[in-house]
Amino acid sequence: DDVWPRPPQCRIITVANQKGGVGKTTTSVNLAAALSMHGQRVLVVDLDPQGNASTALSVEHRGDIPDVYKVLVDDLPLKEVVKEVPGMPGLYCAPATIDLAGAEIELVSMVARESRLRKALAAFDSLELDYIMIDCPPSLGLLTVNALVAAEELLIPIQCEYYALEGLGQLLRNVDLVRAHLNPKLTLSTILLTMYDGRTRLASQVAEEVRAHFGQTVLNTVIPRSVRVSEAPSYGQSVMTYDPGSSGAMAYKDAAREIAYRGAQV
Ligand code: ADP
Ligand code: MG
Repeated sequence: DDVWPRPPQCRIITVANQKGGVGKTTTSVNLAAALSMHGQRVLVVDLDPQGNASTALSVEHRGDIPDVYKVLVDDLPLKEVVKEVPGMPGLYCAPATIDLAGAEIELVSMVARESRLRKALAAFDSLELDYIMIDCPPSLGLLTVNALVAAEELLIPIQCEYYALEGLGQLLRNVDLVRAHLNPKLTLSTILLTMYDGRTRLASQVAEEVRAHFGQTVLNTVIPRSVRVSEAPSYGQSVMTYDPGSSGAMAYKDAAREIAYRGAQV
């Protein structure tokens, strides 16, 4: 398949929304897989103690393995943690174990607690990466703050359902605070509408409302609800390899292409 333009420098994209189940992990994993299938070198940083992104990429995240917790709390170099994703050249994952649940509290008393991930990424120069996608937990705690401080771009997945916009104000206020005090380069670069059910009026109303409010930040591509997308993780795969012809895989490919070409113009 075709090769997309590589960005002038590594783009660090944080995928965040404090609501659970809106498609953060699905989006991180599938965009990363799609980008890697089009000539990009991509690292997924799993910042959720549940380790769902690690699972979806077939990367071990149970037991006493080196993980993102040890990077954030014990200063283990990131390169000791990063694993190649099996069968996916150019795709890498820094896994999360359940230990990461403790980091939220342990970080509180640490020096430069908000910028530990940024420091770890800055010291990591091993892979000539084009993209780092950071998959956040469903909260606005210190893990998500670390992700916002480490990134230049924020991608918010929004599920096309009734409460879609609830809580977004709180997330955006946090982003403003991070920008004011810790990371002036942070921008809300991308909103992706996920789990779109074209049969309902509600979904199209929500999509319209989000576009009216956020304009060009919203990708043209919308991710449809598709069982193939939800099945893929149980096979340790992205939907991009599990069922490349499915509507979900094609949509994630289109979304990834939009992101790649938008970034190339900057
Ligand atoms: P989050 O990381 O925000 O908690 P997930 O990405 O884990 O959300 O998605 C929540 C659930 O919805 C998962 O079971 C996932 O497989 C499913 N899901 C996500 N996107 C889709 C989609 N486009 N179609 C169908 N199911 C989806
Ligand atoms: Mg998740």
